[in-house]
Amino acid sequence: MAVLKIAQMGNPILRRVTDPVSKQELSSERLQRLIDDMIETMREYEGVGLAAPQVHVPRQILVIESREKGRYPAESESPLMALVNPVIVERSPERVRGWEGCLSVEGIRGIVPRHERVTVEALDRAGKPVRLELAEYPAVIAQHEIDHLQGILFLDRMEDLRSLTFMREYSRFWSGADDDEEEEEGEGEGSAAQEER
Ligand SMILES: [Zn+2]
Repeated sequence: MAVLKIAQMGNPILRRVTDPVSKQELSSERLQRLIDDMIETMREYEGVGLAAPQVHVPRQILVIESREKGRYPAESESPLMALVNPVIVERSPERVRGWEGCLSVEGIRGIVPRHERVTVEALDRAGKPVRLELAEYPAVIAQHEIDHLQGILFLDRMEDLRSLTFMREYSRFWSGADDDEEEEEGEGEGSAAQEER
């Protein structure tokens, strides 16, 4: 396995609409290795999700894993998942607003509105169809990552750019009860703390 280089905002790869993956391709050694490398890269940079275009591959693959045990409530955890050709088939009308960051938008956070619950259909890495009903934090991560597959960054989803914040200022002014852990959760992909549920 290998840690891959992460594309940063401004790289056109992050703005491309990605192509789906066929079942045959998915079973190839090349794509299975890509998924392993994406998992290793996500863990290396302490992200909670990673989409293939972030590692310069314009295909519909993402990985999600949130292991924030002890720091966030139970609903914040998400087991390791690799999703291929994921589609959001249902969205709750209810929305949540939470701070998000992105491994491809280094050092910046902002408050993003997301659907509180989504249903996602995809293939798992073995090519088996899966249907996931996600809520709260895992739902937010899934929306963030699936957006990447459409060339959309969290900044595009912000309704009010006035919450755009550098990490240092986030730690200083906005991290609230997480003050003592500000450095650790610094650059993570996805949402750090939900507000206004
Ligand atoms: Zn991202």
